[in-house]
This record gives sequence, structure tokens and C-alpha cells, in this order.
Amino acid sequence: MVLVIGMFDKLKEAIKSFTKSIVEKELTEKELDRYLWDFELRLISSDVASSVARSIVEDVKKRLVGQKVGRLTNVKEYLFNAIRESIRSVFPDSSINLVEIAKQRRKENLEAIKTGGRWKPIVVLFLGPNGSGKTTTIAKLAWKLKKNNLMPLLVAADTFRAGAIEQLEIHAERVGVPLMKREYGVDPASVAYDAIAHASSKKRDIVLIDTAGRLGSDMDLLQEMSKIARVTKPDYKILVVDALSGNDIANQAEMFSKHVGVDGNILTKLDADVKGGAAITLAYMTKAPIVYVGVGQGYDDLVEFNPDWFIEKIFS
Ligand code: GDP
Repeated sequence: MVLVIGMFDKLKEAIKSFTKSIVEKELTEKELDRYLWDFELRLISSDVASSVARSIVEDVKKRLVGQKVGRLTNVKEYLFNAIRESIRSVFPDSSINLVEIAKQRRKENLEAIKTGGRWKPIVVLFLGPNGSGKTTTIAKLAWKLKKNNLMPLLVAADTFRAGAIEQLEIHAERVGVPLMKREYGVDPASVAYDAIAHASSKKRDIVLIDTAGRLGSDMDLLQEMSKIARVTKPDYKILVVDALSGNDIANQAEMFSKHVGVDGNILTKLDADVKGGAAITLAYMTKAPIVYVGVGQGYDDLVEFNPDWFIEKIFS
């Protein structure tokens, strides 16, 4: 998939140094605790949220206790596997392939209208703080859908910032997809609701709703997002998070999951992520899959996330 020099280096280093420190000597449980503590701190400095790091370390310890670590023939491999399985278990196996889902819905819609049924587009609500890359990501996804002969409708439901509407409009023009907008200040839930009706009448396959960001912890914002979700009944609520936002990731993931609900995640700016823990934190806190990752500023820089690829990369 993506190969960037330095990507996830910090997390790789945390794993390497833990296994290296242990294989060099026979261990008492007390010593193991000390190494695990050091490993936990290294995970935290690689952007794994502290509660998540704690849970991984507890899990690794459970896998190691009762095993005569120092006497195993291939200790390093054994430790690697314990950590690998522990981190892999954070990522759900399910995913959300929006291209395939929209293709399937298109087929169903084509059948439905033959018998007088209504065209029902897939509705996706995008959530996430300002600057996370939400608008760019929606444009990248629209581009991907268009390349697959699907027609999306973009919806500018961030009506609080005039700039946000304009920004999405510029992307829509560049990518060559339709956009639904209303004037600045209009109720975002009503913009989104009308857009879905419009998409249905124009036989659009999928509606991508851009929303306001402000601060992820702002209760007004979260209430507004849950109102849009209630009104639009999206098929998927996708949280867009910037891999470089460090400690905020856990907070954002928790707030949006608790107050609005998150079905899937998109992690942006992975091309600049030298730490690596963001993906683990995000998956753990939302209990939802990471469906795509952003790996650059171009419209083609959105790729499907594969947990096994991620695990291979950090254990390589
Ligand atoms: P929004 O406020 O959440 O809508 O954020 P924007 O879509 O405006 O993105 C903020 C900045 O992040 C822009 O300069 C984007 O080009 C940049 N950006 C978005 N995704 C990526 C990515 O995957 N990699 C990199 N390097 N930059 C990105």
C-alpha cells in the first residue's frame, strides 16, 4: 500500500525495544513488570492513548504470564506474536467499502424503480473537528466513487462558516460532482434533509454530508450533529480524524461515539504520521473499523485501510 520513510517509526521502535530488552535475559515477574511499564510509556509517546496503552499492556501480560519466557527457544518471536495479537485484536474485522455498497444499492434502486419504487441513495454523514481533513476527504471519496461510475451528491451542511460552503464548492467543481448548498446560517439538518430528497429525485447513488467542526468537545456541536443524524437517518456515520492530533484523538473519538455514534473512521494525514499510535487509539475508542486513510493532499490519496497491512508495517 503506502510506503513513506519514517511512517510509524516511533511505534515500531517501542515494540522493538521491548522485545530486545526482554530477550537478552531471563526474567522474573518483577522484571517483566518493569519492562512492560517502559513499553506502556513508549506506546503513549507513540500516540497510543494512555487508557488504550494500559489495556494493551494488560493483555500482553496475560498472554505472557505462566509462560517461561526466558526459556523458550524463540523468545523474540513469542513476544512479537503476543504483542501482535494484542494490537491486532483492537481492530474490528468488519469494514465499510462505500464503493461496493453504493454499487449494490444502485442495482437495488434500478430494480425498485421498475416496479414504481423510490430511488434510495446511500446516506453518509461525516463528523469530525475542523482541520481534520473532512472536506478534502469527502472530495477524495467523491472522486473515487465517480471513477467507479457512481454519482455522489455533496452536501454543504456546515452552514456556520461561509468559508466551509465555498471550500466544498471548489472541491465539487474540481472533482466534477454536484453539490447541494443553501445560504450561510440555515439549519444544517434541513439542508441535509432536502439534499437527500433531491438526490432521490435525481437518482444520485450516494449522499456525502459535510458538517461543522468547531471543537470536538463542544456540546452544542455534538447536539447539532445528533439532530442531523436523527433527521437524516444516515446509513453510515463516519468520523474523520487527523492522525497528527495526538492526545485529542481519544477525546474526539469518545465524544463523537458517545453523543452521535460512529460506524466507521477515516484517519487522515497518515503520510505524515511518524508515530503510528493514532490508528490504534481511534479503533479502540470507537470500536469501529478504520475504513479509509488519507495519505496526501491529492484526490487520489485516499486508500482502504487494512489492519493486517498496518500490523505488518509496524512489526516489519
Ligand atoms: P476540514 O476543516 O476538516 O474540512 O479540513 P480540510 O479538508 O480543509 O483539510 C485541512 C488541511 O489538511 C488541508 O490543507 C488539506 O489539504 C490537508 N489534508 C487533508 N487530508 C490530508 C492527508 O491525508 N494528508 C495530508 N498531508 N494533508 C491532508
